[in-house]
Amino acid sequence: MNIISAKFIKTVVGEDQILGDGLPQVAFIGRSNVGKSSTINALVRQKGLAIVSASPGRTQGVNIFLINNSFYLVDLPGYGFAKLSKTDRAWLHDLINWYLFNKKFTQKKIVLIIDAKIGPTSDDLELLHELEAQNKNILVIANKIDKLKKSEYFKQTGKIKELIGYHEILFYSSKTGTGIKEIINQLLC
Ligand code: GDP
Repeated sequence: MNIISAKFIKTVVGEDQILGDGLPQVAFIGRSNVGKSSTINALVRQKGLAIVSASPGRTQGVNIFLINNSFYLVDLPGYGFAKLSKTDRAWLHDLINWYLFNKKFTQKKIVLIIDAKIGPTSDDLELLHELEAQNKNILVIANKIDKLKKSEYFKQTGKIKELIGYHEILFYSSKTGTGIKEIINQLLC
């Protein structure tokens, strides 16, 4: 199986009928600059579908893409962007929580992207534990594995596995494409 079609539908910032229309939702979330847009672009093989930005923190709003006419890929804003104003950060935090913990709809899967070189940050782990508490179906992608030196690979991936716990982790590089097949298989199953 493969991703054969991907279409940007709309950006939402609150209640919208699309979220209750019955199509499954797969949400992508991660710290700003973790490579979420690059990952989504690599998955759908359309450069610029999710805007890759050199200046982090730009994705404002919940971006919804229709994949294979069968499910929505929901691109949430990046969190933890230090340079945003307090007000903007609070707004994004509220928007993310509104979407993830809304009683009116749910997600088939939540894909949490972390940086393999840095490992899960306290923000990543806090979110992971909130998602666990709500029994969400979570897949962790550790992106940027191209940044790991051979000598540190096993130690770092082991540390990540220990911190992430029982969830499935896919080690990936959106730069080299390593691991992309596994991600697609997980998304389409
Ligand atoms: P987002 O803010 O999470 O959407 O992150 P972007 O996709 O905009 O990427 C942020 C930066 O990380 C950009 O400079 C990307 O080129 C870079 N980047 C993304 N994925 C990788 C990766 O797998 N390896 C490396 N080395 N850099 C990456």
